[in-house]
Amino acid sequence: MVAREAYFRYIKNPYCFASLKKLVIAIDGPAASGKSTTARLVARKLGYLHIDTGAMYRAITLRVLEEKISLDDDARIGALAEKTDVRLERLEEENKVYLSDRDVSRAIRNPEVTRSVSTVSSYPAVRSVMVREQRKLAARGGVVLEGRDIGTVVLPEADLKIYLVANVAERARRRKKELDLAGEKIEEQKLVQELIDRDTRDSSREISPLRKADDAVEIDTSHLTIEQQVEFIVRRAKEIIKKLNASHYR
Ligand code: C5P
Repeated sequence: MVAREAYFRYIKNPYCFASLKKLVIAIDGPAASGKSTTARLVARKLGYLHIDTGAMYRAITLRVLEEKISLDDDARIGALAEKTDVRLERLEEENKVYLSDRDVSRAIRNPEVTRSVSTVSSYPAVRSVMVREQRKLAARGGVVLEGRDIGTVVLPEADLKIYLVANVAERARRRKKELDLAGEKIEEQKLVQELIDRDTRDSSREISPLRKADDAVEIDTSHLTIEQQVEFIVRRAKEIIKKLNASHYR
């Protein structure tokens, strides 16, 4: 019935599908819970844009370190965030991060940035700039945003909210595998401690702490494959799209 009506509607106005709502999907969770890979693959399957908001905080942190600004100097860090041009782009299946025209996709993953990013991202002035930019990126829909506060603060009206968790040993194991591939040697036990410290800072800060939105679907990925978690989210998204389209044609 819906399909038939859609057909007649299309015959009358071939541009009608352009007005179909594309979803906004929020994926939050602690460090190394699998958000990036999951968000990237979900976005690819749905033909949506993937926005890694952690990469935006990391890019600002890289600038703070390059400018040798003290991590305690929230006023200078806030001012720097306001004037820093962070761009996310997709280049041949890879997500790239630019500071103006400089590709910093690798540099933002360095250990010093990772150690300092929770402090930089705890400052209200930094968060307000980032949240403003993230809302702009999501405004047209058709996006998967991943971070810590997407479902709670950035986009509380998101169509689908996912909260990914995994036990810390598994998260450290995954992070170690990534770092090994990148040629960086670090003990797994040290990674466990770093993840615990970062999660503690991210979930105990005053503004926009890491927490599950009341209406988010929690997925424990400790024993799931990436394919399984992606499949689960894509299925949910398609159910919502179907429901929205049905009401669109009513
Ligand atoms: O996702 P990723 O681990 O790259 O994020 C780096 C850091 O950026 C987090 O530990 C957190 O401090 C900060 N962040 C945040 N809010 C977001 C995304 C990331 O505070 N939405």
